Amino acid sequence: MALFITDECINCDVCEPECPNEAIYQGQEIYEINPNLCTECVGHFDKPQCVAVCPVSCIPLNPDVVETQEQLLNKYYRLTQLKTA
Ligand code: SF4
Ligand code: SF4
Repeated sequence: MALFITDECINCDVCEPECPNEAIYQGQEIYEINPNLCTECVGHFDKPQCVAVCPVSCIPLNPDVVETQEQLLNKYYRLTQLKTA
């Protein structure tokens, strides 16, 4: 699954630079995660880096975007190929 940011976000900015996929961006009111770019950090790190740094723990799994580990890894391969193309 991708992750998403709830409205408890305090716009502290610390998660955005930690994302290896550049999936996090400043939305209208709070930070948001592009589910097409979030791999749960699979392929890059053992744990979601945004969750590790968020001071208010407002980044849960997105139940609307269900993906297996294999799908997340495939997404990682697809994204990294795009970046190097
Ligand atoms: S889990 Fe990883 S890839 Fe997904 S938004 Fe957080 S830092 Fe980015
Ligand atoms: S680390 Fe948490 S509180 Fe800070 S901007 Fe990211 S989601 Fe919002």
